[in-house]
Amino acid sequence: MATSPLLKTTKLGIYSRKCLKSLSQCRTFTTQLTEQQRTIQEMARNFADEHLKPNAAHHDTEALFPFEPIKKLASMGLLGACASPDYGGLGLDYLSLALAVEELSRGCASVGMIVSIHNFLYVNLVNEKGTPEQKEIFLRDFTKGALGSFALSEPGAGTDVAGIQTKAELNGDNYILNGKKTWVTNAIEGKALATFATIDPALRHKGLACFLIPIETEGIFRGQKERIMSVSMSDRAATACPVTLEDVCIPRSYVVGEPGEGFRIAMEQLDQARIGIAAHAVGIAQSALDTAISYAKKRIAFGKPLSRLASVKDRLTEMCMLVETARLATYRAAVEVSTKNSAMAKYLAGRNATAVADHCVQILGGRGLSVNYDAERHYRDARGTQIYGGVTDIQKRLVGHYLLKEHDAL
Ligand SMILES: Cc1cc2nc3c(=O)[nH]c(=O)nc-3n(C[C@H](O)[C@H](O)[C@H](O)COP(=O)(O)OP(=O)(O)OC[C@H]3O[C@@H](n4cnc5c(N)ncnc54)[C@H](O)[C@@H]3O)c2cc1C
Repeated sequence: MATSPLLKTTKLGIYSRKCLKSLSQCRTFTTQLTEQQRTIQEMARNFADEHLKPNAAHHDTEALFPFEPIKKLASMGLLGACASPDYGGLGLDYLSLALAVEELSRGCASVGMIVSIHNFLYVNLVNEKGTPEQKEIFLRDFTKGALGSFALSEPGAGTDVAGIQTKAELNGDNYILNGKKTWVTNAIEGKALATFATIDPALRHKGLACFLIPIETEGIFRGQKERIMSVSMSDRAATACPVTLEDVCIPRSYVVGEPGEGFRIAMEQLDQARIGIAAHAVGIAQSALDTAISYAKKRIAFGKPLSRLASVKDRLTEMCMLVETARLATYRAAVEVSTKNSAMAKYLAGRNATAVADHCVQILGGRGLSVNYDAERHYRDARGTQIYGGVTDIQKRLVGHYLLKEHDAL
């Protein structure tokens, strides 16, 4: 391969050539992983290559929920990755789960999303905060194949979580819930909700409580799948839908923690979810980089492969660096969990994935816009990661808040 003298001598050139030489060299950090983490990463990687990548486009265009892969992942234990082995889980750490979500999302963004939400937002919540009775009902089956959802958002309250209007009224030993939730991922195929309602709207965030509810409970109505462009989601392979609660009666014992602790519980869970969505975004970005490299090696323009054009090399190099920085921030957040680290990882990973997917579309030219190639799907999938789990704008504000707090500069 002919290389310009400048590229031969600069660090950028070396990085660029390495980046083009081998996709596996784009994956850093592997030597720092424990044997168990490497095993999970490899297991998920092989699964993605064998079972997800070949079918991802088909699931997306035909709007098929990936039942078979989810069933297989359940049998591998990945639906209860961090849950206690006492309830059928694997008892893994967050980094192991993030590595799995990254690899699965590289293969198919829908499967990565389903697994990420189920584990980080539902299973881990019940595992870490549930009573033994709650774990028996809401965890045991959910490490084995039943899917769980996290129903926080409402039509009038997304970023503004304290503005939740779903009401919970105590009636003897039961709570009666009324309200509307929106964008509930996994609710159509799922078996239970972790949801949030206010016991007193005037108390704003101090009035929220977290409830576990079997989805078949009387008074729960699931609406039509949302039709959106992203994450191969909704009317595509994975699903999200509105959920209405009408006089839903559940025992008081299904409250997680104390009534009034719901806001804290939701925020702690979102810190975890952002690690999952960051990992998901890194997987999508890696897939876009892989797509671009493989196309650039084959497509001939001006008598040589695109990969030998300086501007295409620059784009691939930029993509590689964007993937790497997002990956490192994500792994760091999974190891040192804090609101700041999770927000930073989600911000960087979502933003970088969108930029990487944009470069990918450009490198494929007209084919980048064609539904017959993967680039446009990566582009749609990447864009969603800047919205769900908390919009990019609020992640930046969170990072700024904690940065200044650390420096006593608020
Ligand atoms: C595919 C998909 C799946 C989802 N899955 C789930 C799920 O499983 N469970 C669930 O509970 N929710 C889910 N959501 C909802 C998602 O978390 C919300 O859409 C997201 O938090 C943003 O809320 P919103 O749409 O109401 O936007 P809004 O809160 O109305 O914000 C709109 C825009 O206003 C600006 N903005 C608002 N507030 C601020 C602020 N404080 N600082 C700076 N800028 C601000 C930002 O630019 C933001 O993008 C899902 C959404 C999608 C699209």
